[in-house]
Amino acid sequence: MSELAGYNAVITGGGRGIGAAAAVALARAGAKVSLASRNESQVVEIAAELRNQGHEAFAFRCDVTEPHQVRELALSAREAMGRIDILVNNAGTATSNPITRITHAEWQHIMAVNATGTFLCTQAVWEGMADRRWGRVVNVASVAGLSGAKYVSAYTAAKHAVVGFTRAMAEEAVGSGITVNAVCPGYVDTPLTDETVARIVHHTGKSWQEALSAVLDQAGQPRLIRAAEVANAIVGFCHVGAHAPNGELLVLDGSESE
Ligand code: NDP
Repeated sequence: MSELAGYNAVITGGGRGIGAAAAVALARAGAKVSLASRNESQVVEIAAELRNQGHEAFAFRCDVTEPHQVRELALSAREAMGRIDILVNNAGTATSNPITRITHAEWQHIMAVNATGTFLCTQAVWEGMADRRWGRVVNVASVAGLSGAKYVSAYTAAKHAVVGFTRAMAEEAVGSGITVNAVCPGYVDTPLTDETVARIVHHTGKSWQEALSAVLDQAGQPRLIRAAEVANAIVGFCHVGAHAPNGELLVLDGSESE
């Protein structure tokens, strides 16, 4: 498993959940990895674990909604690794509220982290990838980027933006050596899903298991998806050889065998 030896990856939101799993999977595939998130301690911890396992890993503090922090991240990651070949736009956040309760600040925050952050990070690495005529951008969208569900309009709009951005950038990438793809998972076993289940427990008095079953039933999902499954799909989009996919949206809905 060293297909990505000699390649360098930046993973936003790499401190926990899908981002941490993606960092582990990319490192195991041979890549050097730089992890970024607002909470430095989590990325520092994951990077240290990876280094203990013999991988090259770096950690940076970055809020992807802040243009100057994103530029700083790109500079620091280039300094640490030499260049950036792979970008995983994973940082994301979600809330659930009916339309009458969504505040303007909440709407703007959900759009900023999921959609604007994806744009800013992609823009920060694009020129370097284009100059070297090789790059892989993998966006972590969601099934919420492809269909709608009640009480998640802000998140759904933001993930539709990520999907639209993926499609447009894949077109812009044609002939450049860069590919842009997205993974679209349903509910994944991560702290973000725990927050969703906890909100239902809080509002309804259901047990954790009942609330989780309600979430999965509403999504038509047979089971929670493991973060490692999403991570493997992300690594798949970093394929090095010819005929790398471009503009694909890979849905993971738990119907796949584990
Ligand atoms: P987690 O909440 O477990 O992790 C989110 C990561 O993003 C954390 O490392 C967090 O670190 C980071 N992050 C959040 N806001 C920012 C920010 N402004 N700047 C930089 N980093 C940030 O979420 P998941 O692992 O579940 O989700 C990862 C991605 O997968 C998200 O884009 C999410 O929308 C998507 N997704 C998740 C699904 C699920 O069921 N869990 C399903 C489909 C898609 P910190 O807080 O320290 O900044």
